[in-house]
Amino acid sequence: MQHLANYINGQLTAPASGNYIDNYHPATGKVYSLIPDSDSRDVQAAVDAAKAAFPGWAATPAEQRAKIMMKIASLISRDMEKMAQAESKDNGKPVSLARMVDIPRGISNFEFFATAIMHFAAESHAMEDHAINYTLRQPIGVVGCISPWNLPLYLFTWKIAPALAAGNCVVAKPSEITPMTAFLLSELCIEAGLPAGVLNIVHGLGGRAGQAIVEHPEIKAISFTGGTKTGAGLAATAAPMFKKLSLELGGKNPNIIFADCDFEQMLKTTVQSSFANQGQICLCGSRIFVERPLYEQFKAAFVERVKQLTPGDPANDHTRMGAVVSQAHMEKVLSYVELAKEEGGTVLCGGHRVVMEGELREGWYIAPTVIEGLAYNCRTNQEEIFGPVVTIMPFDTEEEVLMMANSTPYGLAATVWTQHLTRAHRVASKIESGIVWINCWLLRDLRTPFGGVKQSGVGREGGFEALRFFTEAKNVCIKL
Ligand code: NDP
Repeated sequence: MQHLANYINGQLTAPASGNYIDNYHPATGKVYSLIPDSDSRDVQAAVDAAKAAFPGWAATPAEQRAKIMMKIASLISRDMEKMAQAESKDNGKPVSLARMVDIPRGISNFEFFATAIMHFAAESHAMEDHAINYTLRQPIGVVGCISPWNLPLYLFTWKIAPALAAGNCVVAKPSEITPMTAFLLSELCIEAGLPAGVLNIVHGLGGRAGQAIVEHPEIKAISFTGGTKTGAGLAATAAPMFKKLSLELGGKNPNIIFADCDFEQMLKTTVQSSFANQGQICLCGSRIFVERPLYEQFKAAFVERVKQLTPGDPANDHTRMGAVVSQAHMEKVLSYVELAKEEGGTVLCGGHRVVMEGELREGWYIAPTVIEGLAYNCRTNQEEIFGPVVTIMPFDTEEEVLMMANSTPYGLAATVWTQHLTRAHRVASKIESGIVWINCWLLRDLRTPFGGVKQSGVGREGGFEALRFFTEAKNVCIKL
């Protein structure tokens, strides 16, 4: 059985405890590797290494830092197939998705921030004849990056890359549920010649290794992506130490479909925005509101398409729907289907576990599920499910749909389908969310600010926003 290792001070190391945690293969439900069960001793070693590396890394010219990061990107690119297979095996996602989205995005994150840092500039404010103020943007020091299991390499590198580009040293923890590509990345960082201690990857449980990162007084900033409840706990621990925090949290995203939309384009994209990655993308739309004149036509066509989306072996090139990430998660998602029934919902398709044949018999598969007949404010429509389950609801007016769309405690993403330009702008401006897609979904430009409002997060990542987060602004005022 393969034992993964931490990456501390440039070395692959065993956890101080000597203990390991089982790592599961969602497609078969079997343990296939072991993850270091790290604790505060490993985090301390990582912080020591990062602190020692910081003066050298911060003083390294941005162009030189960028070169090393571009080298890491090119090594991920070289190992694309190996990384995609590893991501699919670890997470249960179709290998085609890992090839098309996850690993290319890991590469882009390194390339984007490696080049962005060379264009990053700070402000200057002249006070007529009296003085000039200029802003220095200096790296913070040792920063923490904690990421979830749904887009493992994609979100891990989304944090690490801007932190490193800005001159910080990093202590990072991937989700213990999907550690494999982070481990492979540590091998590539060694090969790329990243100086020891600049990036440290500590594997282990959130409540132990993750908590030790959050509690460590010398980790000055934390970028976290994960659930809202975990984010709240993290903020409670970090706030009294006045750490800088970026929190990317849960969502319950509305899809608003007006009757004048391009039906075919909307239908195709809505199937994707509902069920891509088994519905386990924070940006998936889980509440679908359809203007009443289109409702029955939409329902019939949507359910017919969704029924064709049957789960299959994630390792098969033709599979479009894989396994969900864990048994616990499968049970949580299915419990929401039961709740929906109790709340008066009708399951139009799916709603159950799919038991596959042979080796995949014990794997964690759920038939994509569409539910109707629920009130907009019931629990099923207010709480994050984060799986292949969507609800559909009719609406009559723009005011009504905005009220329903904005009724949850979340505000991460929304999708609007209409050909009416003025309405598109009007609705976009009134939706309470950090991102609104009109007539598209998941079209991402890495220069744009990314993040949520309400309980979906605090702060923005992406583009120069991320570089601002990972630097401290210092104003220098010179009297003339
Ligand atoms: P969790 O909040 O459970 O975990 C996220 C990360 O935090 C994991 O690495 C986890 O480790 C770690 N962690 C858990 N407890 C602690 C703690 N006390 N201190 C420090 N770290 C801790 O989220 P999931 O992994 O279940 O991810 C799914 C969630 O992420 C969903 O709510 C989803 O909406 C959200 N998400 C948000 C995105 C956004 O951009 N806003 C993007 C993608 C997902 P471990 O896994 O070992 O427990």
